[in-house]
Amino acid sequence: MDASSRNHYLEAIGVDVWVRRSMPAVSVVEPLADPVAQAAIEPAVSAAPVIVDEPVTADVADRWQALRTEILSCTRCGLHQTRTQGVVGVGPQRTDWMVIGEAPGAEEDRRGEPFVGRAGHLLDAMLRAIGLDRGTNVYIANVLKSRPPNNRDPKPEEVAACLPYLMRQIQLLQPRLMLAVGRIAAQNLLSTDLSLSRLRGKVHHFGELNTPLIVTYHPAYLLRTPADKRKAWEDLKFARSVFRQLTDHRIGTDGNLS
Ligand code: SF4
Repeated sequence: MDASSRNHYLEAIGVDVWVRRSMPAVSVVEPLADPVAQAAIEPAVSAAPVIVDEPVTADVADRWQALRTEILSCTRCGLHQTRTQGVVGVGPQRTDWMVIGEAPGAEEDRRGEPFVGRAGHLLDAMLRAIGLDRGTNVYIANVLKSRPPNNRDPKPEEVAACLPYLMRQIQLLQPRLMLAVGRIAAQNLLSTDLSLSRLRGKVHHFGELNTPLIVTYHPAYLLRTPADKRKAWEDLKFARSVFRQLTDHRIGTDGNLS
């Protein structure tokens, strides 16, 4: 992505783009030089699973379809009684990036797709700023697949009932990096009550595959608190930097490092 396009996306999400006077316009995107961030990346690289590139097979497609059917007819927790429909997720069936929020809202419940409406548009703009698009290279889902009434926080028993679906999504996608957006998603995925500010700026790990996970703000919060958009942009740059480190360890189907 060229600097001009990236600056366009940054302006769209409300992050000021600073251009030095008497200098040519440059991207605000720089590799992380922060030794703290670098130190956070290194354990992620050593702990990351080595994943072999492979195309989506008929078996994977069938398992996605079976998972989708199960979620749409699920009655494992009480939320099935109040939802309009289950919201499975959106994106390619196998991809390196996965974004996870907490639960569908009213618009998502109505349309059957996560992160639509104003918050969804902001998330899309944030992701585009680091070269990601839900149509091609990032999968977006929620911890809960059904909407809690009045957008209340998920209950622990609802999370426990629904988490196996997310686990199966991760097994199918095999993401290299997960981005948890918002405090509720992060706390539930990491089984912690630490604040979002304590969880940002670190590489956590999730699930059986030990998938690296980074935490940032929920786009709905950023709509209410635009002053924090710059911090969210720092998180995205951090995530991209970690991803680049991780992909240095990619191997092809022939078993050779690329
Ligand atoms: S939230 Fe999850 S476990 Fe509960 S009914 Fe919906 S799909 Fe099933």
